[in-house]
Amino acid sequence: MIITELKDINEIYEQIKPYSKILIAGCDGCCQPPRSLNEAKVLGQLLELKARTEGKKLIWKAITVLRQCDDRIAATTCRPFAEEYEAILSLACGLGVVMMNKVIDNILTFPAQNSHFGGVQNSSENFYIEYCEACGDCIIGETGGVCPRAGCAKHLSNGPCGGMVDGMCEVGGYTKPCAWVDIWKRLKKFNRLDLFKKYRGPRDFRLSTSPGYKDIYKEYTNEEEKKEEKV
Ligand code: SF4
Ligand code: SF4
Repeated sequence: MIITELKDINEIYEQIKPYSKILIAGCDGCCQPPRSLNEAKVLGQLLELKARTEGKKLIWKAITVLRQCDDRIAATTCRPFAEEYEAILSLACGLGVVMMNKVIDNILTFPAQNSHFGGVQNSSENFYIEYCEACGDCIIGETGGVCPRAGCAKHLSNGPCGGMVDGMCEVGGYTKPCAWVDIWKRLKKFNRLDLFKKYRGPRDFRLSTSPGYKDIYKEYTNEEEKKEEKV
């Protein structure tokens, strides 16, 4: 899931201020906390009130999209409405906002949210956390299933650093556990401290440069199938 946060209402309003008719699109995909039809309606009401305080009339409609990051779903859901509106306000993560701008290219789509990271939900302790930063070279088979790249503030490959105190990380004021202590505990539990001592070379950042790109046609189609498709 993509962990997001609603922008300040004043910042959202400034983006759509030049327009009088806006489409507000929620997303039913993986952005968390959920930003679906209800959240789109509430945002519409808030923006309408804000516009009124400036003596303006804002016309809006709230919809929701199964996944704004899917080109076909975004296009088929939003294009029938887009004709009637001057701009779109998206409640998706940044991926959805970029995709909406691509598939509906005759009007602008603006972000109502800030996207923070791809993360997981820990319901028992009521927080979201980043467990993987999609580095392109997964090494957690050597680290007991704990990611040192997303989990360690300094992205160390052979930690821990000297800033660890009582198992807590100095970055952030000793409020979060040191990933490398967690790694040691996990490997000790499974009698695999041999992996802890293994030297890991420098991370290859060429595997995670932007823009990330994957040719799914190339990956999932073999040469014979490609020839058949061309015939
Ligand atoms: S090493 Fe960490 S950041 Fe890289 S793919 Fe594995 S879990 Fe994700
Ligand atoms: S204390 Fe641990 S998690 Fe924090 S930066 Fe150092 S090695 Fe990384």
